Amino acid sequence: MPFRLDIVTAERQVYSEDVDLVLAPGADGQLGILPRHAPLFTLLTAGPLVIRKGGEETEIALSGGFMEVARNRVTIMADAAEHAEEIDEARARAGMERARERLQHRVADMDLERAQAAMRRAVARLAVVERRRRRRGERGSRPGGATP
Ligand code: ATP
Repeated sequence: MPFRLDIVTAERQVYSEDVDLVLAPGADGQLGILPRHAPLFTLLTAGPLVIRKGGEETEIALSGGFMEVARNRVTIMADAAEHAEEIDEARARAGMERARERLQHRVADMDLERAQAAMRRAVARLAVVERRRRRRGERGSRPGGATP
């Protein structure tokens, strides 16, 4: 029995579908949401969000936010969220490099948490891009390139 997943940011609706499973990057670790999950309101960190729907898996890069589970409905209010095909890989790499520089050459008044958060966002985006590439590669390498 599927449940509704809505992902929204201040700017747009990113996702709205009936799904079978959500794996969300909870602030205290991965959270698995199945149908009829108990009500929950929790903080999310930046990371890949995995969605399973009808045997297909989709990943969305999430930049932190909140998740509410209520009445068999999951709502994620994200700081930012991107589908794999929306992610500018070069931009994410540049962001990761910038964050790495800041974390390596720490100065007294630097905002450590901010640099770490920027790093997490970039890593999440690159992980989502990479996972999509691997999936496509696997599919493409099958004889005939057909999906089973
Ligand atoms: P940058 O330093 O490159 O701006 P950021 O992590 O600081 O990255 P955010 O503040 O998380 O960026 O996001 C600002 C907006 O830009 C959001 O709408 C987000 O979806 C979008 N965005 C950020 N990075 C990327 C990317 N690599 N590809 C596509 N969209 C992105």
